Amino acid sequence: MGIKEPASMDECIYFTNRNLGAKGKIKGWVHKQDCPKCGKALMGKPRDPKGKIKIRSTEYVCPICNYTAEKEEYEDTLTFEGKYTCPHCETQGEVQTSFMRKKVKIFDEEKQKQLSVEAVRFQCSKCQKNIDVTKKMK
Ligand SMILES: [Zn+2]
Ligand SMILES: [Zn+2]
Repeated sequence: MGIKEPASMDECIYFTNRNLGAKGKIKGWVHKQDCPKCGKALMGKPRDPKGKIKIRSTEYVCPICNYTAEKEEYEDTLTFEGKYTCPHCETQGEVQTSFMRKKVKIFDEEKQKQLSVEAVRFQCSKCQKNIDVTKKMK
């Protein structure tokens, strides 16, 4: 697979680098994409009048033609890429999958109970077990 690590966070609308349990790891990102309407600029979060990015905005806009897309709907069309170490079998691999988050049940080691969370879920290329990149809890 030819996945390309972003050179900087500015190229991404999402970036994570974290441990998955005791043995696993994921470094994942979602590249910004060209505006689907004019194709002349990368879609991104809108900026306030002072030029500061509105991180919490629920929309993405094209800075050239002002095409606007609703956050969740737009993010579902993007591609999540990453490099992982499988938390089950410790294989190192690469992943390219939809950035659409699904409701999944995970077992929380700290709380010792099942939790329902939103996550990007994919399967290890070797052991085929699920690997979940959960949405950060706030
Ligand atoms: Zn545009
Ligand atoms: Zn595995």
